[in-house]
Amino acid sequence: MSDNNNSNEKMELIVSLAKRRGFIYQGSEIYGGLSGTWDYGPLGVTLKRNIMNLWWKMFVDERDDMYGVDAAILMNQKVWQASGHVDTFSDPLVECSNCKSRFCAEKIDISKCPTCGKENSFGEPRQFNMMFKTHVGPVDDESSVSYLRPETAQGIFTNYKNVVDSFYPDLPFGIGQQGKAFRNEISPRDFIFRTREFEQMEIEYFVQPEKWEESFEMWRKLVWDWCEVIGLSTESVHELEVPENERAHYSKRTIDFEFDFPIGRQELLGLAYRTDFDLANIQRVAGKSMEYSEKGTNNKLIPHVIEPSFGVERALMAILSSAYTEDEVNGEKRVFLKLPENLAPVKYAVSPLLKNKPELVAKAREVYEILKKKYGAVMWDDNGNIGKRYRRQDEIGTPNCVVIDFDSLEDNTVTIRNRDTTEQKRVAIDIL
Ligand code: ATP
Repeated sequence: MSDNNNSNEKMELIVSLAKRRGFIYQGSEIYGGLSGTWDYGPLGVTLKRNIMNLWWKMFVDERDDMYGVDAAILMNQKVWQASGHVDTFSDPLVECSNCKSRFCAEKIDISKCPTCGKENSFGEPRQFNMMFKTHVGPVDDESSVSYLRPETAQGIFTNYKNVVDSFYPDLPFGIGQQGKAFRNEISPRDFIFRTREFEQMEIEYFVQPEKWEESFEMWRKLVWDWCEVIGLSTESVHELEVPENERAHYSKRTIDFEFDFPIGRQELLGLAYRTDFDLANIQRVAGKSMEYSEKGTNNKLIPHVIEPSFGVERALMAILSSAYTEDEVNGEKRVFLKLPENLAPVKYAVSPLLKNKPELVAKAREVYEILKKKYGAVMWDDNGNIGKRYRRQDEIGTPNCVVIDFDSLEDNTVTIRNRDTTEQKRVAIDIL
């Protein structure tokens, strides 16, 4: 089988496992779906939160140069005029005059509409803005237009002055935010890789203009640290220096961090030097000073910005792809998710060896309660035989399975089985 087929097959296996085991479902599936949207099931939401909490801990809580914000998704339309999104956040598309389907002109044979089959139905390409437009309030006119934010970054820039006024931090300092972003992507595809509603984790790091390179290098290194923490191997992550003609309108330097997804090498996250583009625009359009007064001097300056921009879904898809593993145990194929322990949605599964022995069940319940209090993410699993339980837990990436048997009643020990090695050890309940 070719590499391509292998990759497609791996992607399909991951999508199917994600659905079967309660990680990720198609959005609005019951009504036939809604393209570019996905819903997170009980294990998916936990995995996603674990990723987001880890990010917040590493980049906000554990640092003394970082502040967090959570801005509204709906913002004054002037935000998107000043940022350039109203004018430039668009793609050139052709529209079929018969069925109104829209396509990227380069991606199709424009002599025939792929949707309705009509020939020569396409006109000249036109720019279609990718922002979802809506109206705020009961009046449907130009002044009430708003957009679902296409990036979280602007919610940081519009609060930069508030944070400076409340905390007066020394430069360099950063503001981090996590939250939903929306883009009316022309062709959402590849599972959660390109969706119309997704989640970002962004940092705007404010620096003295002449020192931007120093901070850029610091974040470059921190991005590599992040990739390691979420379990991506160094060989599977690649830096791509984005050439000037392909960079976003605001950027003087961008490195895309790409990952070897089963669908190919694609952008995982971006690191950009945004100059003073955003703060200077806000100052011009809002007519409010965005200058920072350097402590102990008369110097005033508009800080420049380094922006590491992470997509949660792409991180999740990279984590699932690197964790997905097949091996053989006792001559049988086994599938398991080799998730880093701190990301695994379930840390411990607890089972009585036999579910029809009340004394084993009672003891197992006791152990379950202790672990649940201690770790939270603990699952009770008494379905089927032990082998089946192990396989089920392997598939959702549970690092430890604890089994309570007759010896447990005598000596207060349990069997703990390691997901990756399948090794079983006897340990005392108090040291779990
Ligand atoms: P792409 O080139 O893949 O469209 P982009 O360069 O437009 O991405 P950015 O605007 O830099 O993306 O957004 C920052 C991050 O947000 C991306 O690196 C990615 O992780 C995530 N992201 C952007 N668009 C989407 C999307 N449609 N679905 C899921 N994640 C996305």
